[in-house]
Amino acid sequence: MRPLVRPDLGTVRQQVAARANPAARQRTPARRYGGSGEHQELAGEAYSLARGYLIFAFGPYCSYCEIPLGASLAVEHKFPKSKNEFQETNWANFLLACPNCNSRKGSKEQDAVLFPDDAARWFHPGPGSPFRYTRASGGRVRVEGQTAEARAMVTLCGLDAGPSTEPTASDRRGLYRDAAWNEALASAERLRKMYELTEKDAGRGEALRAAMRRQVAATAVATGFWSVWVSVFWEQLHTPGWTRLLDPSGTDAEERARELARQLFVTGYPALGLVFPGTRNVFAP
Ligand SMILES: [Zn+2]
Repeated sequence: MRPLVRPDLGTVRQQVAARANPAARQRTPARRYGGSGEHQELAGEAYSLARGYLIFAFGPYCSYCEIPLGASLAVEHKFPKSKNEFQETNWANFLLACPNCNSRKGSKEQDAVLFPDDAARWFHPGPGSPFRYTRASGGRVRVEGQTAEARAMVTLCGLDAGPSTEPTASDRRGLYRDAAWNEALASAERLRKMYELTEKDAGRGEALRAAMRRQVAATAVATGFWSVWVSVFWEQLHTPGWTRLLDPSGTDAEERARELARQLFVTGYPALGLVFPGTRNVFAP
């Protein structure tokens, strides 16, 4: 699951307003939109804007399975609104969900579950991560919780549900996730090839590498499944072939791998719209 940083509701509303009308930036104080802290309520007509705010803050992906979605993204309540009225309009209780995760999750009670916006740097692709993405024989991607809370999340949304072989099946999460793994592997290989071909060309080489990095970021953003991209690249960037290309002197390969992964999948290229919004930086040392 992609680790999310939840921005303050007031900040989101101000940024959305400023994007629609740049002149509004000056005359729209953040405080007008509610207090600070995580318990900010969205009242009345503002509630209907929640979906847009969430897409602005986190991107058009299911917060749980990470499938990219357009029209069918729904506002999802982490803790069921049926159990607590206040949770219905609590900004801190909102995430985006695809129909499959939403219906699997339903309004089940959940106490010890790891949510994507739970503070702390909990997802990183290396050892110690609470979620582990691997590919089993036969090409199927598996997601396994490494802690009790992470396992509870996998079960809650059925994140490890395999792809159906039925072309008419409505649950296509596993199918698209498997395809994303293939695309990430192919992209990592294209990027490595570009680094290899430009190894001896210090001038023009960097421009070509940068162009290919943008292409990889663009493909990842369009394909979705952030965790798959990060897991594949993290593994690839630690192979001897990449280590040599990233750090010919052999002193700093780990930091260079983090730097590249951070650029591709965390900081991205916001000016080009090639970014996963709201992604917590898990590649900080
Ligand atoms: Zn989903």
